[in-house]
Amino acid sequence: MIKKLLHMLFREDIQIRQRLLNLILSAALVGGGLSFFITAFISQWESTLVVGIVMIVVLTSLILSVKFNKITLAGALVCGMTNIVIFPIMYLKSGGMNSGMPIWFVMGLIFTWLTLKGVLCYIMYGLNLVALVGIIVLGESHPEWFTEMPEGYMMNDIIQSVIIVSCIIGIIFKYQTYVYEKQQLRILEQDEQLHIANEAKSQFLANMSHEIRTPINGILGMNTMLLKNLDNGNPEDVLEYARNIQSASQALLSIINDILDISKIESGKMEIVPVEYELFSVLNDCYNMNQPRAREKGLIFEMDIEDTLPSVLFGDEVHMRQIINNFLSNAVKYTESGKVLLSMRSERIENGVITLRIDVKDSGIGIREEDLGKLFENFTRLDEKKNRNIEGTGLGLSLTKKLVDLMDGRINVKSEYGIGSVFTVYINQKIISEKEIGDFTEKYKSFVHQSESISRGQTAPEARVLVVDDVPLNLEVARGLLGSTKARIEVAYGGEECLELMRKNKYDVVFLDHMMPVMDGMETLKHLRRDIKHPNQTTPIIALTANAIVGARETYIKAGFADYLSKPIQEKEILDMFFKYLPSDKIKEAGPINDNEPKKTVAPLSAASPAPEKGSKKTVFRDGPRPGEIILGETVDEEKPAGGLASRFPSLNIPVALSYSANNEDFLLKLIEQYVKWDKRGEFRELVDAENWKDYEINIHALKSSSLNIGASELSEHAKALEMAAKSGDLDYIRSHHDDTMKEYDAILEELIKGLAEG
Ligand code: ADP
Repeated sequence: MIKKLLHMLFREDIQIRQRLLNLILSAALVGGGLSFFITAFISQWESTLVVGIVMIVVLTSLILSVKFNKITLAGALVCGMTNIVIFPIMYLKSGGMNSGMPIWFVMGLIFTWLTLKGVLCYIMYGLNLVALVGIIVLGESHPEWFTEMPEGYMMNDIIQSVIIVSCIIGIIFKYQTYVYEKQQLRILEQDEQLHIANEAKSQFLANMSHEIRTPINGILGMNTMLLKNLDNGNPEDVLEYARNIQSASQALLSIINDILDISKIESGKMEIVPVEYELFSVLNDCYNMNQPRAREKGLIFEMDIEDTLPSVLFGDEVHMRQIINNFLSNAVKYTESGKVLLSMRSERIENGVITLRIDVKDSGIGIREEDLGKLFENFTRLDEKKNRNIEGTGLGLSLTKKLVDLMDGRINVKSEYGIGSVFTVYINQKIISEKEIGDFTEKYKSFVHQSESISRGQTAPEARVLVVDDVPLNLEVARGLLGSTKARIEVAYGGEECLELMRKNKYDVVFLDHMMPVMDGMETLKHLRRDIKHPNQTTPIIALTANAIVGARETYIKAGFADYLSKPIQEKEILDMFFKYLPSDKIKEAGPINDNEPKKTVAPLSAASPAPEKGSKKTVFRDGPRPGEIILGETVDEEKPAGGLASRFPSLNIPVALSYSANNEDFLLKLIEQYVKWDKRGEFRELVDAENWKDYEINIHALKSSSLNIGASELSEHAKALEMAAKSGDLDYIRSHHDDTMKEYDAILEELIKGLAEG
């Protein structure tokens, strides 16, 4: 109660002048109360009445100040009423000059200075002075106005007044000094914080510049090597450079994402987005993301997941993953040898909410006790000297801590310098399914097995698929990559033909190219959606595009496509897409997989070109995807030397081309044959002569994507530049570059024809 009252009167966000006014009024109220009882006790009824009136005025002013925040009105009311009305009356009633009243006059006048400001203060002071001096002067010539006081009263009154007034004024000055000193201390603290923040900012900028510069330097260096080796370098090296560029870019992106996340959290814009999720999938991803790095470093990476954890939870899945991953990646990063262990168990279950306890334990460098406190500060890296060679920004843990706070969780760290650390997180998540998660290791194994079998064995012999593209090579690609599904694959060379077929036949999935002459994919789809008399109302139609830009998916979905695939098409992508959209009753699971049996991922292109002998193939399975790599199965030719195609087709980037043809050389050769057959040189000549830029754009676009498909990367780049020029109507560029590109096209075709003849 008292605390509440004090808070109401003197809390720190109230202006100092108002606090002072509140103090004076409260003191007057207490003092007045005392006087009230004393005067009543000694039966000085007149004085009791006057003091009572004073108290009413003071209380009104206090209410005005505290409740309605009317400080000026409250100050003016109390000063005016006291000095002009009440004090003069009391002067007359309590003995005049010989009483304690003159002392009160001084206090009343000082109050005016303290509680009012500006012109009002001077005016009020003047009025009060006139009133108080006036009553002294008038009193001199009218002794009859004074009330006769009893013997001894004057001395008591003077003593009493001296004590009360000096106490009140003393308290006021003490309070003022206290407020002033506190203010000064706060300014000093703020200065210091500013200084610390400034230093952290400088440190951060230095760290950041280093962290950002490292991958950028890597990218620039690798790119220089790539440019040098583009024409005559070893394709394997070129691929390696490209991979390094990719991983450096990813490192850069993750730094920038961390910064964005932190600034989002700090500006209060980071939101928790709870969803239903499978706990296994989060753990599985965390394992997959950190296992390759741990293996590279020769660390043992173990998962110890309680079998009885619920399998489906409700919470922010993305952040859960981010939190666990940050701890795991640090554990792997700061451990040179030994073991990293992720364990997860249930700490408590209450009202359908589980408190998960996640421990990430490592046998790494450990953290000094005195550094533990700094661990979660923004941009702070510990043991800088020792960790100089380890990449890091000092953002990870502070971000993780903020995320955990946001999710109402908590973190605990135990560490022994030189021995290892344990980071423990407690987080609450709602339980959606009580079904137990079961043995993680077993589940993980069967999951890996299953996902491998998707592209290894699943087929759909009863499915009917339509692929629409104006470029025969693209049709071959799609047909070849989908061949392993045993589905019936039909093709159409343009929008009109597609519509015709779709009116007649029911397809399970349609792959429709976007950029086609006469009627493009978008238009074809529009016709199809308008036309209600065909059996493909619900057939998923997947766009094929060579211009996949950010937001492409949204654009295609808005236009009515089910999804999109970007060209050149990868085997895994088209197979995943195919099985994703195929009705499940048409999917046939493969029988048990025999790892020793040689595998062929790409089916023969047509009856006329039978599959090569199976015996010459060996399948290699890798356990982790790397950027830009076909993930689950790749076929390596054992008999032909790896450089065989590269020497037959020196201008082609064979690794790139193979990556677009399921790593199957025979398939690639078929594609090259198609590319040669598709020879568009004559058409280009006519289009340029007729200045038909619209069709020119479509054809040069097709040249771009099909050239990339067979690994003619440079020609593809030049065709792309011409396509851009055609799109933006930059005819000057086309006129000055078209001939060179055509010469390149000539040369490539010539080389391809020669190379094919050698085979
Ligand atoms: P960084 O990007 O530097 O790894 P973090 O915020 O993730 O930034 O970590 C801050 C610092 O905490 C690191 O620089 C490192 O010194 C220390 N640290 C984090 N995790 C571990 C760990 N598992 N073992 C030892 N030290 C760690």
